[in-house]
Amino acid sequence: MALQRVGVVGAGQMGHGIVQVCAQSGLDVLMCDVAESALEKGLAAIRKSLDRFVVKEKLSNDQRDSILARVDTSASLDALADVHLVVEAATEDEALKSRIFRDLDRICNDSAILATNTSSISITRIAAVTARPEKVIGMHFMNPVPLMKLVEIIRALQTSDETYEAISELTRRLGKEPVTVKDAYGFVSNRILLPMINEAIFARYEGLATPEDIDTVMRLGMNHPMGPLALADLIGLDTCLSIMNVLYQGFNDPKYRPCPLLKQMVDAGHLGRKSGRGFYSYE
Ligand code: NAD
Repeated sequence: MALQRVGVVGAGQMGHGIVQVCAQSGLDVLMCDVAESALEKGLAAIRKSLDRFVVKEKLSNDQRDSILARVDTSASLDALADVHLVVEAATEDEALKSRIFRDLDRICNDSAILATNTSSISITRIAAVTARPEKVIGMHFMNPVPLMKLVEIIRALQTSDETYEAISELTRRLGKEPVTVKDAYGFVSNRILLPMINEAIFARYEGLATPEDIDTVMRLGMNHPMGPLALADLIGLDTCLSIMNVLYQGFNDPKYRPCPLLKQMVDAGHLGRKSGRGFYSYE
């Protein structure tokens, strides 16, 4: 089955990025979010990103307009009844995702594939809340979606070969490189990345150096394009904390305990770029 009509649940930084790459690849996309303001912000961000491609002469004005014309929005999941695929990119919270997948299972056509962009949560457990577990799969895009090549494809224990093949093929159609990963908390990317970020936060917590200097060590010393604290701000500190909690509780191993400073910053609403303040200020 050709996956032509795609729904994306969540219009935050990942959701609107996924919408953009799908529309750029000629798919018809319906972007859903509970918050009207998120839908407006998501659409504005897509427009801004496409405008940058126009300025760089990678897209014409006409191409930008036809990409935007392929994007529709809705504040209700009911609008997803006849899509071929849903990519869920709502907040990193297992109870919330389970609720969304139960709703999607009820609303969407029986043949639809339900994918999740979760960073860490068990795909097998998400699949188990639906009556179509063989059609549930992890499709983990990287941030920022329009620029990053990798998509981790995570098979739940129940995922069928047919679902896996369809999603691998779609990933290539989106111009991305799929890498297949077994279903384990954090997959490969966040099993490695988040403990490193958490350790950088411990270095800050213990006052070893300023955020700028910690990031400079990793940029100039390890050749990372971005320091771990700046990257944490980009990911969102709430998302970083959720991922660390999934690793910590999932593996039941103290090496994954989230740094107290990370918890405090989330409690204070200092979530990084999306709230205007994290380890750096974005006013
Ligand atoms: P975000 O906070 O920017 O956006 C989340 C969006 O989900 C918000 O707009 C919110 O209104 C919406 N939402 C919440 N409940 C909803 C519901 N019931 N129905 C519809 N929409 C709902 O978060 P994000 O950074 O875009 O992350 C989204 C997902 O992508 C998470 O699972 C996260 O782990 C994953 N992810 C994040 C990154 C990253 O770098 N931030 C990278 C890869 C994957």
